[in-house]
Amino acid sequence: MKLSDFLFVREGICLFCKEEETYGEILCRDCRKQLEAHGGEYAYDEVHSCSIAYFYNRFLQQIFRQFKYHDEAELAEPIGALLAAFVKQGDYQSYTHIVPVPMHPAAIKKRGYNHTHLMAEELSRRTGLVICDALLKTKNTRAQNKLNRAQRETNLLGAFQPAPGIHLTHTSVLLLDDFVTTGNTMKHATRALTEAGPARIHGLAFTAPRFYRGSSIA
Ligand SMILES: [Zn+2]
Repeated sequence: MKLSDFLFVREGICLFCKEEETYGEILCRDCRKQLEAHGGEYAYDEVHSCSIAYFYNRFLQQIFRQFKYHDEAELAEPIGALLAAFVKQGDYQSYTHIVPVPMHPAAIKKRGYNHTHLMAEELSRRTGLVICDALLKTKNTRAQNKLNRAQRETNLLGAFQPAPGIHLTHTSVLLLDDFVTTGNTMKHATRALTEAGPARIHGLAFTAPRFYRGSSIA
């Protein structure tokens, strides 16, 4: 086999299962079948809402476990590509920037990479939206899903700060996170981001659990 044949074959291999052919798609047919489109939106505070691309089902749970805890940073490529497809299908033409929800430096060091930023980079590459690191995470919070309701409320207080010297006046920003649960992260990040002055902020999450469908869970 020549090197070019090898490259050709690899290029057509699914980036999720790393086994099946994709025939020009982002993923193979089996993996695509396992994705469940969400497409819902929900209000996480009085004025802001968040769009969600896919339901967090068993399949995505497995993918995100690999992506976040097993060093598979390269999964940012198919995840970012799916997100780009979602953005292109939706009504986001007027948005100019992506602001990734930041990680605390200690958490980045522990993981070895910032997975949300990698997703944002892929989304930017495929859509032309400009990444702006307008937020800092200055408090190393505990994982929201390990806390009860009251702890979740206080855990994120003061966790996000606007990055110094960044002005987003007249821009429309998609605030990107991998996952949305209660919307508290989006809410606190939005508050801090508002100080950078964008004209509009809209949340964008790759995935959310099934019980957060719709707009009734502000
Ligand atoms: Zn596959």
